[in-house]
Amino acid sequence: MPKSGFAMVLHGGAGARRSRDYAAEIRHMQGLIEAGRDRLKGGASAVEVVVETIGALEASGLYVAGRGASPNTAGRYELDASLMDGATGLAGAVAALEGFASPISVAQAVMQRTPHVMLAGDGASAFAQANGFAPVIDPDLWFTRAGADESNFAPGALAHGTVGCVVRDQEGRLAAGTSTGGVFNKLPGRVGDTPIIGAGTFADAHAAVSCTGQGEYFIRVAAAAQVAHRIRLAGQSLEQATAAVLAQIKALGGEGGLIAIDARGQVTAPFVSEGMKRGVLHPDGRIEAAAF
Ligand code: ASP
Repeated sequence: MPKSGFAMVLHGGAGARRSRDYAAEIRHMQGLIEAGRDRLKGGASAVEVVVETIGALEASGLYVAGRGASPNTAGRYELDASLMDGATGLAGAVAALEGFASPISVAQAVMQRTPHVMLAGDGASAFAQANGFAPVIDPDLWFTRAGADESNFAPGALAHGTVGCVVRDQEGRLAAGTSTGGVFNKLPGRVGDTPIIGAGTFADAHAAVSCTGQGEYFIRVAAAAQVAHRIRLAGQSLEQATAAVLAQIKALGGEGGLIAIDARGQVTAPFVSEGMKRGVLHPDGRIEAAAF
């Protein structure tokens, strides 16, 4: 693949509601896409840009991830995140991580510094502490509960929010990552699709995918890996593969969306929910940011 055609997509979750104004989020996502474009132009790797972008989405407190996460039914903040490098096939994840500001950074450290793919619960926290990650000292003061006003709208459905990013860098390497506070009113110990490689996040040489929506459905159809496998094994286009996977989720009664990028830098951000906050850098340099 020639040295060209870098592109990226980020999402701020498929929990968007038409009754709310997302002007601040749209401005923020647009700025992150511009920052990512400049990093990619300067030669940054796909993994670097995915982690930096998700770290900024987490730190903003605007989305239901990182600082914007909401508590579970026991009042605790258990966060999930994962990262996959399509160039090496390496991956890292944390599930039900408590007490740390940037789950995606801890997921990256799991990938880089351990022989494992996923650490969960107390083990994930102990690892984050041993590796010097920034702790959350007082959850009540620190978390913004960004999506709290989105949590009462969907009778029978689990309201939710998440952030994610997929990138193709100048060298043609693909990477994907996702980070979440999960669904509102989740039970203690509930883990969604976000930290599960193949469900919420996947990257290989053919595609990089990050999902958002009611995670239980994305797990059941192995959503992110299925997109890449459809491209690799069935020769489908990015549009065909992503549409087929979202159709399965809808048929099961789920909702949500995903962002994906292929080896040529083609991008897509389809959803079968009311909206999905997203920002896109097309391979021709065009930028879009929208919620609906
Ligand atoms: N997929 C996430 C989860 O189920 C939530 C979301 O994407 O909004 O934890």
